[in-house]
Amino acid sequence: MNEFWLAPVLTRWQSMMAKGIKPQAVVIQGVPGMGKKALTEQVMANMLCSQSDTQACGECQSCRLLNAGHHPDVHRVVAEKDIIKVDQIRQLTTFFASTPHCSQHKLAVIYDAHLMNTSAANALLKVLEEPPATGTLFLLTDAKHRLLPTIRSRCIGLDVTLDQQSESQVVDWLKQLGHEENHIRLALPLVDFVPLAAQSIIANEELNAFLTFLDDLLSVLKNQAHVTQIASQWSEALNMDVLLMWQRWLLLVLKHGNNPSIMGPWQNNEFILWLNSQPQSVDLLITMHDLLMDFVLNFNTQIKRQLMLESMLISLMERKQV
Ligand SMILES: [Zn+2]
Repeated sequence: MNEFWLAPVLTRWQSMMAKGIKPQAVVIQGVPGMGKKALTEQVMANMLCSQSDTQACGECQSCRLLNAGHHPDVHRVVAEKDIIKVDQIRQLTTFFASTPHCSQHKLAVIYDAHLMNTSAANALLKVLEEPPATGTLFLLTDAKHRLLPTIRSRCIGLDVTLDQQSESQVVDWLKQLGHEENHIRLALPLVDFVPLAAQSIIANEELNAFLTFLDDLLSVLKNQAHVTQIASQWSEALNMDVLLMWQRWLLLVLKHGNNPSIMGPWQNNEFILWLNSQPQSVDLLITMHDLLMDFVLNFNTQIKRQLMLESMLISLMERKQV
């Protein structure tokens, strides 16, 4: 598995299996971007492989069916419009009722398990009260506290985490994926050092778009560019991803602006250097945050985006001069 931080969790799982402890229900918990899905796929592959119990061979019929997404002994439950309904859990019950087709196990995954509505959760509780001998159920979630306590108490828990000491390993891992170190170190604090989230904002060009946005904002604040020009430029290009990144960035600077070990290369960012030269830098950050929140709330309304941007930039300019 490429994600090195998942290895200790996988080892823990393998040692349970080696001792003959096969959990019937597992909650795999971790923030988005920690690799919960990758871990579950690896655990399932190892369980289903007909050649090995510890490391899926990737070549047997079972491995090939799993990789192709057609394994008859695997059932996946995915939320529809952010809800998992009782019918989906009933299908799961039916799936567990039959014997395995081509392996020793019947494995089911519920993604975003905290999205089960009340009747779905109650139906699942019945499954957990009389679990099928061959079955194992994986509940994936980034909000474990939203699962019923009676469900949690019937599952073993696997937490996917990463301590901050691993940062240099994360940087190396992202470099191996072909990203530049400076981008990596700028991305990590914006996503709470979650590796796959950093990988995603770099690969999707979200980080680059945000850096351009900051540059443009700075040229307005320094009177090097005109409000109308920048507002018109951004009225088309600005999307929710950039806005949310701006919000994360503002919170990062407000919370950790004085902590070099968290800020990394952001300390030498032009915008931050300019901000630090301002007498009211904290007030400015808070004003930006308030203006941004107003902007986000009105993002999908009929008000013309360019006008909203102009008014936001003008308010910011006024605030700067106070
Ligand atoms: Zn295999």
